[in-house]
Amino acid sequence: MEKNVSIDRALEILFQFPILSRVETTVIVSAHNRILSEDVMALVDSPPFDNSSIDGWAVLVSDPPQNRIEVGTIFAGDPPPRELLPNEAFRIMTGAPTPPNADGLVMVEDGLQGIVRKNFIRHKGENISQGSVALSKNRVLSPPCLALLASVGHSTVSVYSKPKVSIITTGDELIAPGKELKPGQIYESNSISLTSLVRQAGAIPTVVEPSRDDIDSLRELFNQCAESSDLILTSGGVSMGDHDFVRKLLIEEGEPLFWKVRMRPGGPPIFGLWKDTPILGLPGNPVSSHVVFLTLVVPWLSHPDLFYKKIRARLQSPLKGAKGKTTFRRIKIQSSDELLASSLTHQGSGNILSMVAHDALSVLPPDTDGEVGELIDALWLID
Ligand code: AMP
Ligand code: MG
Repeated sequence: MEKNVSIDRALEILFQFPILSRVETTVIVSAHNRILSEDVMALVDSPPFDNSSIDGWAVLVSDPPQNRIEVGTIFAGDPPPRELLPNEAFRIMTGAPTPPNADGLVMVEDGLQGIVRKNFIRHKGENISQGSVALSKNRVLSPPCLALLASVGHSTVSVYSKPKVSIITTGDELIAPGKELKPGQIYESNSISLTSLVRQAGAIPTVVEPSRDDIDSLRELFNQCAESSDLILTSGGVSMGDHDFVRKLLIEEGEPLFWKVRMRPGGPPIFGLWKDTPILGLPGNPVSSHVVFLTLVVPWLSHPDLFYKKIRARLQSPLKGAKGKTTFRRIKIQSSDELLASSLTHQGSGNILSMVAHDALSVLPPDTDGEVGELIDALWLID
């Protein structure tokens, strides 16, 4: 087992166990935010024929404007018309096929003798030509991507199947919200955030019964989830405490591959295999589990486009870095002449309010503080 790995090394190890492997075909209308599992070629030219981008007349550029005579009308959906004879003009609607020899269009607003414009003809294949790559593998399918697929002839598309992810929370102090809070207890919240993060990632979450801090019940849950899921995520029980049984169990009875990542918050994640199923132990502190999900799970299980944009922002508040660790402070982005980043609340990793009050994470390299006025790298989160 490797210890204290860099984020890049942790990702390298995770990518040895790809979660996105199965593929399926889906109708494009249901493919929003799915991830393409192969390059997709254009089945036809776009546009498929020369056509008009305006309402007006199709003409020959060489004809003197005052000689033009309207000889017919072409509507969108009509078959391609005949060639124009000298001085002839066809009235034409947007999207209608242009006559094969027409080389100019006159806008209806300008009148039949108006100025002729060559660039208003949309030429066959000028957007994308048949047989070329319309979208590349691993692209997240946005609404414009889906429209592009349709426009080049696809009714279905091949995407990665949604992985099944089990979520196990651990901790004797945890009770479900809605129940009365007894002394020493806190409301369990990580299963709630992880469920929505897993869904946002395009995977299928299953929250299993929360585990007591007890190695036998945890073993039982690991066995059960290894059977039924592509990935097990646990929360809590991975650091140095006497009741940190996720770590203990994985190290003693599973196949641990790394423990502890050089990042803050979220230092103690543990990763390994349990009966051949990948299991990632996230820290219990709510901000830590969130940040580890964004940095380690998202690129592995999903696609960053579904979660954040990488930006550069100018700091308005000082940020404390950490020795040897990449630091993800919570910051609020303001869009002005440039992007400005401020830190507004207490940054403790137990304070989920800090994720609510801010909307981005700094990416401070190891051993680096962020000074006011400096440009820093950040991840601007998509809700
Ligand atoms: P642990 O990693 O188990 O030592 O937990 C670290 C901190 O996170 C402790 O203060 C826990 O009470 C808290 N914590 C652990 N799991 C959860 C959870 N599912 N929801 C909210 N807080 C949690
Ligand atoms: Mg615990």
